[in-house]
Amino acid sequence: MTDTPSAPDDAQARRAVRPVICYPNDSLPEPDLPLYRRARQGAVKTAEQRVDPREAACFEVPAGHFFRITSIEGPQVGDLNLWNRNNLSERFYSGKTRALHGTHVSTGERLWSSFPYLRPMATIVEDTLGWYGIDEFGGSVHDVIGTRCDPYTGNLLSGSQYHHCCHSNLTRALADHLRLPLAEAEPHVHDVLNVFMCTGFTRDTGQYFMKASPVRPGDYLEFFAEIDLLGALSACPGGDCSAEHSSDTAACFPMLVEVFAPSSDELANWRPPAVNGYDRSHGRG
Ligand SMILES: [Zn+2]
Repeated sequence: MTDTPSAPDDAQARRAVRPVICYPNDSLPEPDLPLYRRARQGAVKTAEQRVDPREAACFEVPAGHFFRITSIEGPQVGDLNLWNRNNLSERFYSGKTRALHGTHVSTGERLWSSFPYLRPMATIVEDTLGWYGIDEFGGSVHDVIGTRCDPYTGNLLSGSQYHHCCHSNLTRALADHLRLPLAEAEPHVHDVLNVFMCTGFTRDTGQYFMKASPVRPGDYLEFFAEIDLLGALSACPGGDCSAEHSSDTAACFPMLVEVFAPSSDELANWRPPAVNGYDRSHGRG
């Protein structure tokens, strides 16, 4: 630890500078939520996948379909990974989604894909926890600030070997779904959308915190798939994340993923978004 340096004379003036938004998002292409809602009316369920506690499962969603993640038996948070079904190198980019939309996402916001694609993968169309807002601790739900609980950090901090962290759950699920060895599946696992998780940063120390999720059975988060998706959802060993994760201590519950086909005529003229328009010459040639 270093000693805190003494503050300069103009310290207060420097601190008083007002922040500016890094990425003003009023020029982002707006999702056509009324169109999605019309397509959702009369949609037909085509698949469902139960995710067991402390496990993960994969699911596929064609472009233009919807998928819904529901809490079914008790408060439970889920760690979500998304890939382009046809190209695993295009995957959910949690950090850029955070930069564009903020620390937590809700209805009308989108999950963006990695470089060089950087396009919407999915759009949130319904969030039954949308009433929560930001609480007195600065906490909110569905964060893109956490990474995913993983056995490496546990080992670093306590020397443990715990195998049902979301990272390992997602790795096993992807390996099974694509019939890959674990070592080939693992590098595809990435930072997640923390579905239903209630998190923030402490104001005094800036540390990442979690608190008991406000989710209750019947709550759900629903998405419109902008491109063909392969998803994986882990029912986090932290349960509702009120106390701890990366152990078998917390009460954990299953989750449900359902896929719905839209009423087809509404999306007759809709197309998946194009990949990002940057020419990738990076200033050469
Ligand atoms: Zn987890």
